[in-house]
Amino acid sequence: MTRRRRIDRFVLLLAWPLLSSVKAFTLLSNQRSSLERSSNDALKSSASITEKEDALNAEKENVTPNRLGGISLSLEELSEALGGMGRAKICWDLYSIGVDPDDYFGGTMAESDREEFCKMLPSCRRTQNLSSKTLERLASLYPQGRVEGGVASLSLISISEDLTTKLLLKLADGLEVETVIIPWEGVRSTLCISSQVGCSQGCKFCATGRMGKLRSLTCDEIVAQMFFAKKIARLNNLPKITNIVFMGLGEPSDNADNVVRATQLLTSRGLFQLSASKTVVSTVAPTPDSFGLFQKAPCVLAWSVHAVNDALRKRLVPTTNYSMRELRQGLIDALNARPLNLRTVMLEVVLLKGVNDDLDHADELAAFSQVIIDSVEACKLVINVIPYNPIDVVSFEKPSKEACTAFQQRLQYEHGLYAFVRVTRGDDESAACGQLTTTAKREKQSSQPKGRAS
Ligand code: SF4
Repeated sequence: MTRRRRIDRFVLLLAWPLLSSVKAFTLLSNQRSSLERSSNDALKSSASITEKEDALNAEKENVTPNRLGGISLSLEELSEALGGMGRAKICWDLYSIGVDPDDYFGGTMAESDREEFCKMLPSCRRTQNLSSKTLERLASLYPQGRVEGGVASLSLISISEDLTTKLLLKLADGLEVETVIIPWEGVRSTLCISSQVGCSQGCKFCATGRMGKLRSLTCDEIVAQMFFAKKIARLNNLPKITNIVFMGLGEPSDNADNVVRATQLLTSRGLFQLSASKTVVSTVAPTPDSFGLFQKAPCVLAWSVHAVNDALRKRLVPTTNYSMRELRQGLIDALNARPLNLRTVMLEVVLLKGVNDDLDHADELAAFSQVIIDSVEACKLVINVIPYNPIDVVSFEKPSKEACTAFQQRLQYEHGLYAFVRVTRGDDESAACGQLTTTAKREKQSSQPKGRAS
């Protein structure tokens, strides 16, 4: 087998589970601008006066409510709250297929639906029931009593021709957040998750960065994105969600505690049971310590690098206050402290025409990356080249397909690195990177979701 073929095969194997992350990143960028408008609209139109005040106060104080409802409790914690592990397990069996236990046991669900969901449960729990008292206890864990209609409500579904499915979730305070399901070849799906409403990092090419940070999401609100995605994937016959990428709205390290807890719940046995190697947390790394914040997160780390030249990176990520050498050392230290099986790292570069798409930039990136590989035992490094998706508010241009391919091939064949170009998905529904137009589109669309929501 030639060296080139070996690299191709390795890249395919290694990058496949992570590929969705890249795509997800794109999707997230798109959502950012729409969130700005939709959040403001939601605050104006539907929140009560109290809700508005709460949201504004949270925004002012930059505070994330520290809510832990049933969907952000581990089996042991939920067992303690409900008075029995069997009760906790049946709740999580239902959460993990996108069904609220209150619907299943509360008598409001159609019998045919109940029978369908019953077949999805482990056989040992199909005859189990939850008493009204247990349901009351469960409801008391949520300020609004339940996940759907409590933690969040599904306010819009957009489905692109390639079946990329964007969900707009309205949170309890009226703000909105997006999450995107990206099906791959009919066999699996990746979910792109948001960690904040907006973002304070201000990357120049990113629509979300332009809206600023409204607030961080609670763990409930992060995990609920998976709950809703499971429900919609099931109802619309989308492939099973096997991969998660925190590449949506927000900078995960600005909400690290909730993101870490969410990754633990998403990968726990008996809960959502995802693989840690298929759960990717992407950070722009505001400080060298940012990577270490995810030490307890069962996930793969991704770093939004964009440029390794300090001056150029400062231009693209103006909030950065550290040199790339300092940030790289933070990454190296964090990787060396991780288990050997979680030392895969993805470096992401949003490629901008005439800005960072030159082959000299690829050479600089290769030299920069090699230091990481040489400094971390068992490190697997993948470079994710993301063609920029133009948005109205900034003047960057999309690089040509040839430039993207040349950049990737320079990394791969000249420098022996594992690199791939992200395949853009969901363009027609503004679900691709840098196309955050949800609110604008929403104004044109009917309020009825395009997909089957219930
Ligand atoms: S870190 Fe940068 S690219 Fe990521 S959401 Fe924030 S502003 Fe956008």
